[in-house]
Amino acid sequence: MKTVDQHASDIIAAIHPMSPRRTALREAHGCVLAAHVRATVAVPGFDNSAMDGYAARAADVAEASEDNPVTLPVAGEIMAGPVSPAPLAPGTVVRIMTGAPLPKGADTIVQLEWTDGGIETVRINQAPRRGLHIRRAGEDIAPGNLVLAAGTVLGAAQIGLLAAVNVARPAVHPRPRVAVLSTGSELVEVGTPLGPGQIVDSNSHAIAAAAHEAGALVRRVDGVSDDPDEFGATFDELLRSTDVLITTGGISVGARDVVKQVLSKSDEIRFERIAMQPGKPQGFGVVGGVPVFTLPGNPVSALVSFELFVRPALRRMRGLPAGPGGASWRQPATGTVTVRVSETMQSAAGRRTFPRVRLERDDTGELVATSAGGQGAHQMSGLASAHALLVVPEEVTEVPAGTKLPAVLLPEPEWAGPFGEARG
Ligand code: AMP
Ligand code: MG
Repeated sequence: MKTVDQHASDIIAAIHPMSPRRTALREAHGCVLAAHVRATVAVPGFDNSAMDGYAARAADVAEASEDNPVTLPVAGEIMAGPVSPAPLAPGTVVRIMTGAPLPKGADTIVQLEWTDGGIETVRINQAPRRGLHIRRAGEDIAPGNLVLAAGTVLGAAQIGLLAAVNVARPAVHPRPRVAVLSTGSELVEVGTPLGPGQIVDSNSHAIAAAAHEAGALVRRVDGVSDDPDEFGATFDELLRSTDVLITTGGISVGARDVVKQVLSKSDEIRFERIAMQPGKPQGFGVVGGVPVFTLPGNPVSALVSFELFVRPALRRMRGLPAGPGGASWRQPATGTVTVRVSETMQSAAGRRTFPRVRLERDDTGELVATSAGGQGAHQMSGLASAHALLVVPEEVTEVPAGTKLPAVLLPEPEWAGPFGEARG
């Protein structure tokens, strides 16, 4: 059997970041910048006032105090807006609003609170130093400055910064389109009453949601039966209009394992047994440039496989470090932590097992892992309450309480945003 690490690195070796594309800021949100952005403009673009008040020459108001106020004529008013103010005549001030351009000759702002607020003339009772409340052109960003480096994830502040430097369409790695197809003649659509032997197709919804959380544009289609022609036709259709294709079910050693049966005919996809539990049968290949993941049918196996193999691939396509473990604190991705196991657990010999665990911090701040419930590959309730996948090494068959082990954190769903649907 192939190791988990070997399988994961074979996959990553076959995956490339999505080709950069210029997109509107709205679509760029959450994407990774594909090239450095340098400023072509200054921010602020012109000297302007940081306060509502009066633009003045510091020398004209230098003597002002509570006891000895200075009264000066008000020569006019400058609002924030597309104006080129006249130069400030010596011995006068102009009313000025926050963000309005500074008139030539002015070198300080007297904030409104330091005056009587006069319209024709103004009484000033405190002396501002030169330069006070003036925002100089380029003091945030100067032309030629590196604004954002390639590899930066574009969150709200970064999107705002791009807009501020007048970059409407940054080059980003676009979100990959992911198509999700489940297989099995026993499957019916959610919301449908079940007949004998039927089950609800939960995998396609779970995998679609996971891909969505991982930042993909997801297209989920209704599951197909174990009929090779039906599967083959849907597979081919999806392949033409997606960047990644994920199937579930039909890859083990059963009599009608349709995915394996149909896709084994080409040698682009390899079906292998991976030394892991859950998720021993796996298939992966690149067909016509599209990475294809054929995940096992058991719901827990499918989602655990997603975390271990698909999510890192999607991260790489999005221009992020592949992770787990390669993730930074900024990135909504799985990471690995060390935990202490609170109860003795059994583990399959010769296979890396991934028990679903809940995490808690003890008094010393250490993370303590407790089984999240039934550990069968079909038991979704445990996974749904789990915080992490414990990583039990291949050679270990029993984990005594108190053992320290790594655990792969499961992502928090709050990271998902309304990314929209992929169109075919
Ligand atoms: P398979 O890999 O197709 O042999 O499926 C393994 C197990 O997972 C069987 O019990 C299937 O009924 C179940 N299963 C397969 N596909 C799905 C699905 N889309 N949703 C829920 N359970 C599934
Ligand atoms: Mg099946």
